[in-house]
Amino acid sequence: MTRKLSLTVDGKNVSVYLHKGDLPHTVSFNGAVAVDSETLGLSLIRDPLCLVQISDGGGEAHLVQLDRTSYDAPNLKRVLVDPAHLKLFHFARFDIAMFMRDLSIVTAPLYCTKIASKLVRTYTDRHGLKDLTKEILGRDISKDQQSSDWGAPELSDAQLAYAASDVLHLHALKEKLDAMLAREGRTEIAQSCFDFLPTRAALDLAGWEDTDIFAHS
Ligand code: MN
Repeated sequence: MTRKLSLTVDGKNVSVYLHKGDLPHTVSFNGAVAVDSETLGLSLIRDPLCLVQISDGGGEAHLVQLDRTSYDAPNLKRVLVDPAHLKLFHFARFDIAMFMRDLSIVTAPLYCTKIASKLVRTYTDRHGLKDLTKEILGRDISKDQQSSDWGAPELSDAQLAYAASDVLHLHALKEKLDAMLAREGRTEIAQSCFDFLPTRAALDLAGWEDTDIFAHS
């Protein structure tokens, strides 16, 4: 079941598609896709995955509200593992661990705007999506609905607009961050970090969440 909404997201009118259960098989994406998810909280043990948002950068967002009794979403899972679609995240580590746990998939290939930001914006410790978007795109995004009840059966328009917003800027961020990575000669090390993310997520799920296994002690 799909509902099409016209919502104001960060001051712009955006088409948002809310799909219950899975993406319809008729939805297809071009090239790299921005992905984000919403959960009931931040615990990898306690909190279930509720919503997955996808956009291919064309100005529309597709939101999949998952059936938490089955997580049966074959079309969504196909996109998340498709080598033809690079998946752009902000802090991929958390989302892909959730996808590993609840959807039983290894999401790849990956790009993480938070890692790229940390590798090039060494003059600041502000690497949140809001600060990053403000500084390098000059756009203000709202984080008002970040801590809201994503397990609710009916999500509000404010929640849906917020969820959509999180995937509408990642393509533009990647373009800017790629130029900065190239400028600083850090493209290759960034790629190695992105490639390691599924292993990092597996370690998080296996109990090494708060341990840096590379640290001396
Ligand atoms: Mn989000």
